[in-house]
Amino acid sequence: MRLGVGRRATPRVALARRARATTRAATTRDVALALLDRDGVINVDVGAPGVVDVAQFALIDGAARAVRALNDAGVPTAVVTNQTAIGKGYVSAAYVEDVVHGEMRRALRDDAGATLGEIYYAHKARDEPCDRRKPAPGMVIEALAANGLADAPSRAVFIGDTVTDMQAAARAGVRRCLVCTGYGEVMGEALRSRNQRLPYRITMRADDPTMSIPDECFPLDVYHDLAHAVDCLLAVPSFT
Ligand SMILES: [Mg+2]
Repeated sequence: MRLGVGRRATPRVALARRARATTRAATTRDVALALLDRDGVINVDVGAPGVVDVAQFALIDGAARAVRALNDAGVPTAVVTNQTAIGKGYVSAAYVEDVVHGEMRRALRDDAGATLGEIYYAHKARDEPCDRRKPAPGMVIEALAANGLADAPSRAVFIGDTVTDMQAAARAGVRRCLVCTGYGEVMGEALRSRNQRLPYRITMRADDPTMSIPDECFPLDVYHDLAHAVDCLLAVPSFT
C-alpha cells in the first residue's frame, strides 16, 4: 500500500503545503513602512518611456484596495519610482508631479478611499550618475529616514516588480517583495508553469526560475500583485 497518495490524503497534503507556503513567505516582523514602486505595481506599466500622458495612467486591479488596507492598518506608505523620462525630456517634472501623480492620488481615493504618502522619484536619465535612481538605494534611504526607520530598515518592506526594485531595497536593508505584475509577469508565468503556489520565497539563485536576480536580493518573497502582497503582509501575525 502506498501512503499519502489516496484520495483522502490529498486535501490534507494540499492544505499543509499551502500553510507552509504562507508561513515561509510572510516573514517575521511587523510592517512599519510600505514602500511601493509605481509603474507595474500601482498602475499598469506602459513600457518605455513610461507614462508621459495622463491618459496612459490606469490602476492595476486591487491596488487601491491594497493601499486602503495599509491605511486602515496604520502602515505608512511611500512611492519610490524611477522617472527617467523626465531626464530624457519626454515629460516635465511638473507634469509628473501635478498631473500624473495627481491622477494617481485621485484614482486611489475615488476607487477605495485610499491615501498615499510621500512620492519619491528619480528624474535623471539612465546615463547620468545618480545615487537616488534605483538600483541605488538613495530614495529608499530618504523614505526610511523620513519615517524614523533609518536605524531599523528591516521593519520596512519594498513591493516592486523589477530586479532594480529588489536591489534598491536590499542595499538599504529593506525586505523585498516581488509582484507578478508589470515586469514581474515573467516570474508569475514561470512559477505557474511549475505549479508553484504563491506566496513563494526565493532564498537562492537556484530558486529563481527566470529573472536572473542577483544574490544581493535574497531572500525575497513573490506575490501575485500588490493586493496579494498586502493581504499576506497584514494577515499573518509576527512570530519573531
Ligand atoms: Mg516598476
